[in-house]
Amino acid sequence: MKLHNSEGPPCRHMENMLKSTAEGTAGTVAKWYATTHAKGCTRCQCFLNEQVAKQEEAVEVAPTK
Ligand SMILES: [Zn+2]
Repeated sequence: MKLHNSEGPPCRHMENMLKSTAEGTAGTVAKWYATTHAKGCTRCQCFLNEQVAKQEEAVEVAPTK
């Protein structure tokens, strides 16, 4: 499912911050900044959701020890 206004890459300066936020490696301020920005930016919000979904997938696939 694609929203018509959410296609395209996220803001270039936000990409790494959004990734690290999804991975849980971002610092408190970076995470706050990324999530706050994503609330007002459809592309970044979409990108962040995709990254979070990928993280959850990776966790499900990873074998438990
Ligand atoms: Zn953005």
